Amino acid sequence: MDLTSEQKDIVRAAREFAEGEFRDRAKEFDEKEEFDMAIWKLAAENGFIGCFIEEEYGGMGLGFLEHSLITEQLWRVDPGCGQALCALSFGSEMIQTFGTEEQKKKYLPPVPAGEAIMATAITEPDAGSDVTMVKTRAEKRGDTYVINGSKMFITNGCTAHYMLVYAITNPEERNSHNRASVILVETSRPGFEAIKIHGKMGIRASNTAEVNFNNVEVPVENLIGKEGRGFYQLMDFFNMTRNHVAAQGVGVAQGALEMAISHVKKRKAFGGSLSKLQGVQFKLAEMATRIEASRSLYWRAAWLLDHGKLDPALVSMAKWFAGETAVYVVNEALQLHGGYGYIAEYDIQRFYRDAKIVEIYEGSKEVEKAVIASELLKRIF
Ligand SMILES: Cc1cc2nc3c(=O)[nH]c(=O)nc-3n(C[C@H](O)[C@H](O)[C@H](O)COP(=O)(O)OP(=O)(O)OC[C@H]3O[C@@H](n4cnc5c(N)ncnc54)[C@H](O)[C@@H]3O)c2cc1C
Repeated sequence: MDLTSEQKDIVRAAREFAEGEFRDRAKEFDEKEEFDMAIWKLAAENGFIGCFIEEEYGGMGLGFLEHSLITEQLWRVDPGCGQALCALSFGSEMIQTFGTEEQKKKYLPPVPAGEAIMATAITEPDAGSDVTMVKTRAEKRGDTYVINGSKMFITNGCTAHYMLVYAITNPEERNSHNRASVILVETSRPGFEAIKIHGKMGIRASNTAEVNFNNVEVPVENLIGKEGRGFYQLMDFFNMTRNHVAAQGVGVAQGALEMAISHVKKRKAFGGSLSKLQGVQFKLAEMATRIEASRSLYWRAAWLLDHGKLDPALVSMAKWFAGETAVYVVNEALQLHGGYGYIAEYDIQRFYRDAKIVEIYEGSKEVEKAVIASELLKRIF
């Protein structure tokens, strides 16, 4: 399988954009734990935000593969800035798949236009991997939902204009999978509060917040999909977005490999360049092979998604393996920088800190393995 010439053009354009707009400022954003939102506007003008949103809703109608290719390139240049941009449309997949025509027309077009930022709030202080444990409550009173509760680690929590909130609407249901719904909350509503989390290990250019809902009222029309079907909608949503996370892992790994190669070619030891040593070459070969295998997995999973043949096991394989590859590769890349990696070379240190998140969010690697195993057990008798 190879990319089409249009897809190769997209890859080139995303790479050039990242090189030109944020490579030189990535250290500053990491240190300040913020991002220059002027770059958001530029990224939108270039079609990099929510490119998978259909043309009738203002997007470019590209596939998940194209979105993942863009993600890989942005993360390859800098994971923090890549995440600050790629997550801006996080949740629009859910609206596009489950929203009404009215909701799609209202909420989708501002996202690719660079006028609105989205977020999706599922995780809570006492509910992470097990989403059936969420306590945030959306109580129906007449024609409004009244929302109360707290969400934790929410990407774009402080910057989002609207947020999809995973909340309990049907607490009386015996089956815990039928209790939650997805409700869109405009963050300008009274009772909404976001508190920025400082001091993250990595992807520090990306905003992360604790979010509180204190009697936040939204009209019942803000329900996305069906009441009580939130859990199933969420699983479908993750099957789309986890593949983007796999692309993040490939991007951070590829960027680290390139830094390692350029360092070992320059560094002299044992009578020549470090790159001439077989032990060093074997490391590079292993890093590159794992990256290529991870890339093949996410390409194939995305291709199937784009052709309406979702394979949850393959998406989870891509996410798990790309996360582990990212962590493996940044570790080896820093090792090849020696003491300079530990002390002086800020970029490889940043990548080392950034990579770990790929193994944690949108389903830890153990959760991905649980999905793979459950699919295997269903398919093979
Ligand atoms: C930077 C950042 C951004 C985030 N952005 C968002 C966001 O935008 N929206 C949102 O809703 N959430 C977000 N999250 C939350 C993230 O999705 C959760 O942290 C993640 O799902 C894990 O949940 P937890 O932290 O509660 O860990 P826990 O659920 O407590 O799990 C801890 C560990 O236990 C192990 N474990 C868990 N379940 C299993 C299992 N079934 N089998 C074996 N081992 C298991 C895993 O090793 C796991 O890492 C973000 C987190 C971070 C750090």
